[in-house]
Amino acid sequence: MSTLRFYAVKETLKRKTVHVVEPERRSTIFGSNVFNQDSMRQYLTKDSFQSVMGAVDKGSKIERHIADHISTGMKEWAISKGATHYTHWFQPLTGATAEKHDAFFETMDNGQAIEKFGGGQLVQQEPDASSFPNGGIRNTFEARGYTAWDPTSPAFIYGTTLCIPTVFVAYTGEALDYKTPLLRALQTIDSAATAVAKYFDKNVTKVNATLGWEQEYFLIDSALAASRPDIALAGRTLLGHTSAKGQQLDDHYFGSIPARALNYMRDLETECMLLGIPVKTRHNEVAPNQFELAPIFEETNLAVDHNSLLMDVMSKVADRHHFKVLFHEKPFAGVNGSGKHNNWSLATNTGVNLLGPGSTPMKNLQFLTFFINTLKAVNEHEELLRASIASASNDHRLGANEAPPAIISAFIGSQLTAVLDELEKVTNGKLSPQEKTDLKLNVVGKIPEILLDNTDRNRTSPFAFTGNKFEFRAVGSTANCANPMTILNAIVARQLMDFKEKVDGLIKDKKMKKDDAIFNVLREYIKDSKRIRFEGDGYGEAWEKEAKKRGLSNNKTTPLALKAKVSKKTIALFEGLGIMSKVEMEARYEIELEEYAKRIQIEGRILGDIARNHVIPTTIRYQNILIENVKGLKDIYGKDFKKYASEPMRLIELISAHIESINSDITNLIEARKKANKITDTEKLAIAYCDDVKPFFEKIRYHCDKLELLVDDELWPLTKYRELLFTK
Ligand code: ADP
Ligand code: MG
Repeated sequence: MSTLRFYAVKETLKRKTVHVVEPERRSTIFGSNVFNQDSMRQYLTKDSFQSVMGAVDKGSKIERHIADHISTGMKEWAISKGATHYTHWFQPLTGATAEKHDAFFETMDNGQAIEKFGGGQLVQQEPDASSFPNGGIRNTFEARGYTAWDPTSPAFIYGTTLCIPTVFVAYTGEALDYKTPLLRALQTIDSAATAVAKYFDKNVTKVNATLGWEQEYFLIDSALAASRPDIALAGRTLLGHTSAKGQQLDDHYFGSIPARALNYMRDLETECMLLGIPVKTRHNEVAPNQFELAPIFEETNLAVDHNSLLMDVMSKVADRHHFKVLFHEKPFAGVNGSGKHNNWSLATNTGVNLLGPGSTPMKNLQFLTFFINTLKAVNEHEELLRASIASASNDHRLGANEAPPAIISAFIGSQLTAVLDELEKVTNGKLSPQEKTDLKLNVVGKIPEILLDNTDRNRTSPFAFTGNKFEFRAVGSTANCANPMTILNAIVARQLMDFKEKVDGLIKDKKMKKDDAIFNVLREYIKDSKRIRFEGDGYGEAWEKEAKKRGLSNNKTTPLALKAKVSKKTIALFEGLGIMSKVEMEARYEIELEEYAKRIQIEGRILGDIARNHVIPTTIRYQNILIENVKGLKDIYGKDFKKYASEPMRLIELISAHIESINSDITNLIEARKKANKITDTEKLAIAYCDDVKPFFEKIRYHCDKLELLVDDELWPLTKYRELLFTK
């Protein structure tokens, strides 16, 4: 009998809900472990406080002697909250967050000790971080990496450690993390969007990109998860026959949350409140044991930090509740996978959502300006946007017959489509007063009521307008949002700059009025970006054909998709905006390809191990039982035995055929891997893993899953889908 599987199921059945203490009112504890404005006012001098706020709002520099004051205040605050250590907290290109704790504790000459944390330690550190991926940057330049304080994301206490959000860069200036290019992109969109927003309101001096992510995940009992080597090592199941009942009945989606999971969420949300992560929504998702968590949206840099932190907190809190959180995009075949919708918009310092329709025709023209420019940007850079979400795990969703396809398109709803169709007819050149009145009354002026009735939500679209924001739905659940957010904000920034140049040109050279010029440029943009708009079923085959006709990319695998990150067009775009240099982009490309190859390599090894060392030996044991059975029947019935033994004999043969297929496919898989490993060119290596190694996964799985149905349940060593998904 397979001990681990049954032990795990037994343990799971014994679980009790873990008692959770919640505050009476969440608002009272919100942000209490964050060095926010309130605590800064309390612990910093007025000068220091203003210096930090200047850095946050205007990006101004913090003087060194002020940094000393700030660090002292921060340390006092942290110690008052029970912190003993501090760390620079950063997001290297591994996808996880990194921290290296140092104690505040310091000895003095007289043998006594004090708590110390100087400005230097706050502002900059040099972690011995030589093992983080750098895509050759640090080898080439023989420079070390250092971390530097990002005052725009407040320090926080996590456990007993003061965490200081930082960027991670090489001494030669190249970014080695996710945050650095994101901050550069956010600065760029701030100035580009502010300049355009000034057409409509002179008081706008700053525009923040906003992000509200929705995190999907699976919760599996920790004992069940540990019983599966594939879940433990790859975060997903590499084999397993689908459960008789899966999500067919739609009885999980938005259903009542199971008690153990609910207590986990309550506990998690309390932690989030302390850390200032404004989580708001929780619900069951489509697949059994799948859930979603969403916060109130925030400024993008902060939202990205909060999502990275959240994923760490989720795993830690899960330990207390004997759960393992699966963030993988496709942990189970046959049921829905997980994504991380990135809701994105632009907000001015005057409190206006630039993608929210307004109450006057002028405000709506502003809305249309940002709306149409976004569509144009997505149209121009659809392939790059696809690249921004490429990963080995997200390949299971994109283009794999599962939510969003690998084709980027934008859904805007029938009413906005009608508005754009009208705007497309605007006169070339100056508009007559009558035309303007008409536009104001019948087109631009109609927008608010239109959007209120716009309940049509196309769930198959990867980039959908949802009333007052765009929702980038193709982002993977494991992703660091910084990657897609850097690219989205960069392409929209570029677009807004081009728009401004065009409009200013018409005003200056053609003596057009501002709104005439805007209408004229928007009209052309609507025409230019038509191909990106798609309102139909994004999952259908018809769309693939149509998209191909339109010249949209359909890069179904990561190695293919990533190429757009180093295309001439992309390099020109990023260098032009000063967001990333060619060296930085090529380094990232290298890192992502390498990671892709490694992930497939690891999965290949796990699959080989499970199939050969778990599935086949078990199957042979079962086959021997059948052989004994046949022999026994022969003993009893002599030459007539076949009358009774035909069924077990058929099974014996069937089993042998499956074993043979598995064995030969594993041998082929290993050979393909060996061949791939000899390739030194990273691009070719990733392609070899994609095209030559990965295809064996499905073949091997097919036969293993067939055997799961044939072999005695008592012997089967791997925890089954029904147990993983339905044991509560
Ligand atoms: P759903 O997509 O599940 O139907 P909603 O549309 O209500 O849910 O909102 C989803 C997310 O969108 C939330 O996390 C919310 O904070 C975020 N969101 C709402 N407005 C904005 C905005 N202006 N900018 C960025 N995110 C936003
Ligand atoms: Mg959503």
